[in-house]
Amino acid sequence: MLRDDLLHPVLGGNKVRKLDALLPELRHSGVTDVVTCGGVQSAHTAAVAVAAAELGLRSHLLIRGEAPQIPTGYQLVTRMYGSHVSYVTRAEYADRATMFARRVEHVRQQDGAAEVAVIAEGGGDAAALLGLLRLAHWLLAASVLAPAGGHPAGGASSRLVRDVEALPDPHTTPYRIIVDSGTGTTAIGLAIAVAALGLPWTVVGVMLAGDEAYYRAQAEQLLGSFLGRYGAELYIGAGAEARAAAPGPALNGSGGGAAGSAAEAASECLPLQWVARSVPRRFGKVFPQDLAACMQVARSYGIGLDPIYSLSAWELACQEAEAAAAATASDAHVGPGGGGLATAPIVMLHGGGALGLHGLAQRYPDAF
Ligand SMILES: *Cc1c(COP(=O)(O)O)cnc(C)c1O
Repeated sequence: MLRDDLLHPVLGGNKVRKLDALLPELRHSGVTDVVTCGGVQSAHTAAVAVAAAELGLRSHLLIRGEAPQIPTGYQLVTRMYGSHVSYVTRAEYADRATMFARRVEHVRQQDGAAEVAVIAEGGGDAAALLGLLRLAHWLLAASVLAPAGGHPAGGASSRLVRDVEALPDPHTTPYRIIVDSGTGTTAIGLAIAVAALGLPWTVVGVMLAGDEAYYRAQAEQLLGSFLGRYGAELYIGAGAEARAAAPGPALNGSGGGAAGSAAEAASECLPLQWVARSVPRRFGKVFPQDLAACMQVARSYGIGLDPIYSLSAWELACQEAEAAAAATASDAHVGPGGGGLATAPIVMLHGGGALGLHGLAQRYPDAF
């Protein structure tokens, strides 16, 4: 398991990853204030509030619905770190463009020198994908930097890096990386990174908020804006030979108007698969056995899962790991990584989300 949930002391996980490049890029371009929106227990608005504050940017968070009587979880973090938190009616929220335009105007009126940027709900943006590229880079660097035989006792490397060092070589191992997916930005970004770096990994997205057509359209759209913005820069220079030799798809952005059709073709061959959740349900629906499963994992392994997102990746990872173990046992000739997909090592990307439990505990107080 990739403990990306431990990425940050307040907010672990993919919401932080998705802002990793975006916010510094905005600040670099002179932005002083960011505006974004989300639900009362939105991990995205909380992440924007924290990351903006860390960079010295002011954040304006538009929250759908009413202020809760007891702020907990992401809502508490949003209120604690956000510069301005306001609650908007569902009717206003339904028209995002007008809602954002009004808020931007308001911020400019308050401070004539303000440079205001709007961050899309959920942080789905070409720059968000760079955060996942950094994750893939980090995995490679951690393994490359590892001295043979691991670190001496008391070495400076963290537990996270040590664990990565212990993995089979990421350059040659066909990992299957399982990612619980809402908008799909995290899974798509990771798949683009895998293709760009010419790695033999496959990303498996668990579809939670839409069907396969939705996620395919997301991949095409994100890859299109990514290639339009960074394609040429990323595909020139060091590493080009390795990529040319790699079996993965060529992502050469031909720039400008051609980016759209290039994206369509390239998104078809991203190392990315979409699979349904083992027990399909309407997005956000929680069954009592899900909470029981999260508690069981917490008690057995000390790993916090939430029933809406990370539990779904956990379930699939367990299922695939068991299938791989069974396949290996029934065919002793096929070693790890030596056979088909069934024997590829399974990695779960833990995208965080533990604070989501606080909101759920208010909704289902008897379940805990
Ligand atoms: C937001 C979130 C997701 C969904 O991420 P996408 O990039 O929108 O697919 C998955 N898991 C957790 C824990 C999240 O907080």
